[in-house]
Amino acid sequence: MSAIDPLVQANREFAQSFAGGLPGTPARKIAVVTCMDCRIDPVRALGVSVGDANVIRNAGGLIVEDTLRSLAISQRKLGTTAIMVIQHTRCGLSTYDDAEFRAELEAETGVAPPWGPSPFGAQEDNVRTAVEQLRTSALLPYTDDVRGFVFDVDTGLLTEVTQ
Ligand SMILES: [Zn+2]
Repeated sequence: MSAIDPLVQANREFAQSFAGGLPGTPARKIAVVTCMDCRIDPVRALGVSVGDANVIRNAGGLIVEDTLRSLAISQRKLGTTAIMVIQHTRCGLSTYDDAEFRAELEAETGVAPPWGPSPFGAQEDNVRTAVEQLRTSALLPYTDDVRGFVFDVDTGLLTEVTQ
């Protein structure tokens, strides 16, 4: 029995009442960049529904090459015009040193990680850096409505980070 089997089973039940038929262009014209952390459920935490937003997730909710690729597609092909960056308290990235992790990976596998360094410091500073990266990106046509937040995984509250 795989850990995946119960999820496939749950999907059978989910599909019974699935409405479908929505367009692939987000109705609320918003993209959310956030961490892959298992304690964050962007749809419920932000009061959006299926069909409302593009949600782009990675470890840390960082602005890396693939985040920009996804956002460029989101804005230029799917019509979004606003970006919410949400990082969070007690993020796993703050629990280890990125340079050491990269060195460990290379030592154990003989393969240098193909992704760049992910420096991760004080939470608010990380969010400010991410917002600044987006506001200055030449790849994105809509950079006025970009805002950054920290999600508290213990209270469920968002706090906006001012630039
Ligand atoms: Zn995280």
